[in-house]
Amino acid sequence: MSHMTPCPNCDGGNLYKSKKISSGGGHAPNYLPGLGRFLSTAGFHVVVCRDCGLSRFFAHEEARAKLGESDKWTRVP
Ligand SMILES: [Zn+2]
Repeated sequence: MSHMTPCPNCDGGNLYKSKKISSGGGHAPNYLPGLGRFLSTAGFHVVVCRDCGLSRFFAHEEARAKLGESDKWTRVP
C-alpha cells in the first residue's frame, strides 16, 4: 500500500484507511475468491477520501501472492 496520497480523483490529502475487512463469504459475495485460506476468506483494507468519497480496496499481500496460481483469476494483458 504505497503512494496512497494524494487522492487520484480529487488530489486531496484527507485519506482514511480501515482496519482489515473480510472479503466476504457466508451469505455475502466473496470479492477475493480463491485467495484466502481454508475456512478463511482473504482480507483487504479500504482507503476512503474524506473530500470526494472515492473508496479504494487493497487486497492484503498474502492474498495478492496467490493471484498467479489461482484459477479464479486471469491476468489482464
Ligand atoms: Zn478524493
